[in-house]
Amino acid sequence: MIAVLRALLLLLMMMPALSQADVMPLPATAQSLLPGPYMDVWEDAEGNARIEDVRDLPDSAWQPVARRDASFGYGGKAYWLRLTLYNPEDRAMDWILLVANPLLDQLEAYGLQADRVFQAGDQYPFDNRWIEHRQLALPLTLAAGEQRQLILRMQTDGSANLSASLMTRERFHHDEQRALLLQGLFFGALAAMFIYNLSIFLITRDRNYLWYSLFVASYSLYQFIQLGFALQWLWPNALAWHQLSFPLSSAVATLFGIVFTYGFLELRQGPPFARWATGLLVACTLLVILLALAGPYSVALIGSFVLVIACAVLACLFTLLRWRDGYQPAKLFALGWFVLITASLFSILSGTGVLPYSQYTLHAQQVGGLIEMVVFSIALAARIRQIQREHQQAHDRLYTNEHQLRLEQARTLDLQKQINSGLEIRVKERTAALEYALSELSTANNKLSESNRRDGLTGLYNRQAFNDAFSRAFAQAERSQRPLAVLMMDLDYFKQVNDQYGHAAGDASLQHAAGRLQQRLRESDILARYGGEEFVAVLCDTDLAGAHDLARHLCADLVDAPCPFEDQRIELSLSIGISAGTPGPELTAERLLRQADQALYRAKHAGRNRVDCYEATALDDA
Ligand code: GH3
Ligand code: MG
Ligand code: MG
Repeated sequence: MIAVLRALLLLLMMMPALSQADVMPLPATAQSLLPGPYMDVWEDAEGNARIEDVRDLPDSAWQPVARRDASFGYGGKAYWLRLTLYNPEDRAMDWILLVANPLLDQLEAYGLQADRVFQAGDQYPFDNRWIEHRQLALPLTLAAGEQRQLILRMQTDGSANLSASLMTRERFHHDEQRALLLQGLFFGALAAMFIYNLSIFLITRDRNYLWYSLFVASYSLYQFIQLGFALQWLWPNALAWHQLSFPLSSAVATLFGIVFTYGFLELRQGPPFARWATGLLVACTLLVILLALAGPYSVALIGSFVLVIACAVLACLFTLLRWRDGYQPAKLFALGWFVLITASLFSILSGTGVLPYSQYTLHAQQVGGLIEMVVFSIALAARIRQIQREHQQAHDRLYTNEHQLRLEQARTLDLQKQINSGLEIRVKERTAALEYALSELSTANNKLSESNRRDGLTGLYNRQAFNDAFSRAFAQAERSQRPLAVLMMDLDYFKQVNDQYGHAAGDASLQHAAGRLQQRLRESDILARYGGEEFVAVLCDTDLAGAHDLARHLCADLVDAPCPFEDQRIELSLSIGISAGTPGPELTAERLLRQADQALYRAKHAGRNRVDCYEATALDDA
């Protein structure tokens, strides 16, 4: 705000003056004075006027400068300036006319010393200067009450800004101490920032740090040149190089600034126009670098300024866009650009003469640059923090996912185990049930086959089972050549039992008789129901006599024990036919059976309730 008011004030002061400039008094009490308002200027359009010609110019040729800083913008013309000084003191005074624009190509001063012309500027070797100083310091001694006219010739391709001030030698030395301290701090801070960020690059390999440190380095060089230190300390005699180094360093700093900004804001992921605008800026920067190297100098210089402004504005725009996108590190970055743009505007406006020369405008760019560099450095750190946070979040997410996955896996494993053990139990259960069912089945089967072999009423072997058992027993007897007896038995008058007591009583009688027979026979003997009321027994290892004996007991057993049925006792008797012998070629199983049957037939005929044995004669008769 103050700067704007100051600019307005000075614009008013620039109104063309009607009279010639006054003589400038130099009282001892005034320590630093601006000579602008006391100067007259004559513009040497051709640029080839000599001092004699200028001295002969009529007063009307001269125009008052009126401004305090004598600034004529960019144009490359030669300006002659006239200044009359007066020492009102009664003693000689030493003064310094300090021209704070070290980039002036040529500055000649006539009248400083009687027989010596001051010639300096960056088109002259540094040794030409009367006082070793980065700026142009013109020493001047005025005797008591002396009035002297100085004539200066200024010519430059850069900013034709004299930026002059007059001060006593003491004041000059005093200010110099402070200025050098401040400049030392400024460049020290930049150097520290450069080393720091380069080290971080070397450790982290994050390219943004490299671009930033190169940006700081080239910006520092640019400032070093602009402030006059470069010609003093780096290349005091390399004048051609010095001329081009200024726009060159500016363009190189801009280039690194663009690359750094592009990387920092991650514009690769930004809007497409940001990408091609960055590409265009890089191309323009390279063009300016080429111009700086090949000339013309003034075009390169103006190009580099335009580029700085364009880059700063675009970078600011991109920063704001990224900020709007929610990219947090852009906040600080925006502040840095704001400061730099403001400072650059001050600097360029004072260079072109729109803003007056002052300590503020002279150092605005430096202070702004320093603030910007610090802010960018902090922004870089903030960005790293942001990246770290994102990494941490990603890591946390990954960890949580992994944890959940592990839990899920464990759960699945558990489930699998449960299923497996459940399955095992069920399989065991099923197997047991199956085994049980199988055993039940086989028992049932056994029972079934057994019941198939048994007679339903008496529980004795049926005819079929008897045939099987008899064949086996017969074969066994044949192998062992042991005797075998067959008893064919038939209940006597059984039809009458049925008729007399009923069929149920008949059944009970059949069961009773079977039980009695079974009771008397051995385990190894075979007893079966052969027909309706007919039974058959096979006695192993028994001869005819043995069989006869047993048969008589059987008959007696039945007679002795009538069948109890309801409240009655049914008398029963039995006729038995016996056939016995050792199996051989003459005695087959069928024959043995047939013989027993014949014997039974005879027992029946003989009166029943008796035993009869088969005799060979009988067989022959049959
Ligand atoms: P014999 O002394 O000559 O043997 O005279 P019998 O009456 O015993 O012989 P017959 O062959 O004339 O009669 C046999 C009877 O046995 C006829 C039949 O009704 C009876 N019978 C056969 N099987 C069964 C049976 O399972 N239950 C009953 N209740 N009676 C039967
Ligand atoms: Mg019968
Ligand atoms: Mg009978």
